[in-house]
Amino acid sequence: MITSTYDADSLHRSFGIDLGEIGMGAVESMGVGAAWGKVPPGLRSDPHQHDETETFVIVSGRGDLVVDAERTPVSPGMVIQFEPFETHYLDNTGTADLIFATFYWRDADRAARVAARTDRRRFGERPVFAFSTPPTPNGGLHIGHLSGPYLGTDVFVRFQRMNGANVWHLAGTDDFQSYVAECAGREGRPPAEVAAHYAAEITETLRLMDIEPDHITHTSRDERYPRALQAFFSRLVDSGRVTRQEGTALFDGETGRYLYEPYVKGGCPTCGSTTGGNICEECGEPNFCVDLVEPRPANGTAEPQPGTITRYTLPLHELRGDVLEHHHAGRAPARLRELANRIFRRGRVDVALTHPSSWGVPPAQQDVPGQVIWVWIELAFGFIYGIESLGRKLGTGWRADAPQDDWKIVHFLGYDNMFYHSILSPALYKIANPEWTPDVDYNVNEFYLLDGDKFSTSRRHVIWGKDILGPDSVDAIRFYLARTRPEAHRTNFTLTDYETVVRETLVGTWQRWLNDLGARVEKHYGGTVPDAGIWTPEHTAFLARLENRLGAMAGCLGPDGFSLNRAAQTLHGIVADALRFAGYEGAVLDLADWKDEARTAIALELAAAKLLATCAAPVMPRFAAGLAAALGIAPPAQWPRVVTLVPHGTRVNLARQVFFGARPEPEEPSAPLLPWLSGLVREALRLPEGEQVADATLVALGIKSMQAIALQYQILERTGTDVTVADLLGDRTVGQLTAFIVNNGSNTDNADNADNADNAGGLAPVREEVVGA
Ligand SMILES: [Zn+2]
Repeated sequence: MITSTYDADSLHRSFGIDLGEIGMGAVESMGVGAAWGKVPPGLRSDPHQHDETETFVIVSGRGDLVVDAERTPVSPGMVIQFEPFETHYLDNTGTADLIFATFYWRDADRAARVAARTDRRRFGERPVFAFSTPPTPNGGLHIGHLSGPYLGTDVFVRFQRMNGANVWHLAGTDDFQSYVAECAGREGRPPAEVAAHYAAEITETLRLMDIEPDHITHTSRDERYPRALQAFFSRLVDSGRVTRQEGTALFDGETGRYLYEPYVKGGCPTCGSTTGGNICEECGEPNFCVDLVEPRPANGTAEPQPGTITRYTLPLHELRGDVLEHHHAGRAPARLRELANRIFRRGRVDVALTHPSSWGVPPAQQDVPGQVIWVWIELAFGFIYGIESLGRKLGTGWRADAPQDDWKIVHFLGYDNMFYHSILSPALYKIANPEWTPDVDYNVNEFYLLDGDKFSTSRRHVIWGKDILGPDSVDAIRFYLARTRPEAHRTNFTLTDYETVVRETLVGTWQRWLNDLGARVEKHYGGTVPDAGIWTPEHTAFLARLENRLGAMAGCLGPDGFSLNRAAQTLHGIVADALRFAGYEGAVLDLADWKDEARTAIALELAAAKLLATCAAPVMPRFAAGLAAALGIAPPAQWPRVVTLVPHGTRVNLARQVFFGARPEPEEPSAPLLPWLSGLVREALRLPEGEQVADATLVALGIKSMQAIALQYQILERTGTDVTVADLLGDRTVGQLTAFIVNNGSNTDNADNADNADNAGGLAPVREEVVGA
């Protein structure tokens, strides 16, 4: 028998509280790790995660147990067990010591099962807000922008939605950036006009990329925004942590203009690279302009002069412990934690939170005339304001001034924004909303280069999204960007490589396999899916391989290990597996003795095609819907638990499908369109055979947008007419749509040609090569 009695004198500090091992020498014979723990009143243990399963027995005192942001009151006599990897801590909210015993042990099976789950950390239970970094509306979006936060957020949200999560994509434009005012100066028009102009262009480019955020905040045109921002700023000031401080700043030697951000250049005080004011894109560290090495104005030649100025200032270094604790709560990549370590090593980090400018929101405090609230405070505030605005639409009552621990925030950002997102913002939250424990995941991308060099608007070294994106190219672009985006290190875009990947991988491998599979189904099974018959060991092994691919894809798209590079590899892996399998199995396809095995092989290849459609849905939604339609199944809307066969007897239409690149000339419709279209609509909605749909609109019948996309493909495939989803979901009845399709057939072709002419350079070469391939 082993006994241990709680002894307050034998405790030592560990995990932020007092711990004492139970019966050191006896641990082995007990078979589990065991300890006494004490959390003094008003304190809490450090939030942490580990692979062991752990059980707490509460002995005395009261408090809250917080597990993945969910709070549960605890009292003496309670036993609580944690799954491996759950983030947990004890918060003593009472007046006496909270004393507990803990027992923990390794269970590898249990840990592996939990690690493989994609709904860990209560993603399936909490509201999840995914933010793409708000772009500065001083230009459009180029493919460097698109490859990073925007594609990342969109794929993330689509995957979460397939898993049933309450998830939203929130976006905005960062209108009050000094870069907008600087651009307005160059373009000779008011900053508000510049912001509105480029915001419209940005939204349009996102639409072309099939990215439609659930909410977009335009800060300079949102009536409620300025006052809400001022209230947030006032909370910073009222805390006493943010105060008016006299400090040094740079001024133009000729005009006396305050120099910061776009108006000044110099050597980064940390890494020496040439940088603009306030942040270095190379090392990610902030600068304060006066500390730039050999500073010079971005325009003009006069030597900048240091001078003094009083601004609201935050002693960021005082918040070091809070920022580090925040980095323990969610997904904070090592690169980000390393940056925080570098910045806090400096000792003092005094950050000015107001700057002289006429463009922006002035603080409600009247004591810094001519200054506005720094736009990077707007970044922090804008996220919670976006949640409030979304909540207003949804009727949830979410409030920016009362953020909730239960909110799961997921950021997608570039390396050069890490300081603002993951160090400055949590410090500001700690001051303005001290009762809130923000739980944030950071997904960081590095720089994407174009032909080996940084994207640059001023040097016209850039490929704009609007120039390369169109209905025929969007999935190829999304695939290529997913495959090559800079996740671990800088990567490079070249148009030649993109065209090669489209030609050789998407058209030459994926599409060729699917067309060939369709041709075999037509030749041997009359165009319908055969029932699986006898299974050979190789068949079973292939099914297991597909299961592995499904699991791998969930791992790439889930919140813990989100990686589009690996997702693109996995998608291609499904095709590579299927081709290898088809190559072996083709040998017996024509042999009568092995016909029951042959149909199993074809059924499995079709299952692979279905798996490809499912796994591609978050990454390449149009392709996924088109492939599903060609397989005679509904567009993938739910993430499956297992790989399944396409129901036997389903008609497939794969042999002549064009998923990527140019489409062939349309064939003449061979039968009246209305019965055919009505049949499709009934099929999509699972309506009875004889149900009349001609006089109803698709919306009234209950067609969802994904189903409309599938219809769009089927109509295009049959008639050659590209009807927009908006037209399908508009106010025409099914009967009127039929007439519309017939009347617009030839016009649409002309419109397509006109589009192509506009897309100078970008797509035309790809199309020609595809036709020749
Ligand atoms: Zn630097």
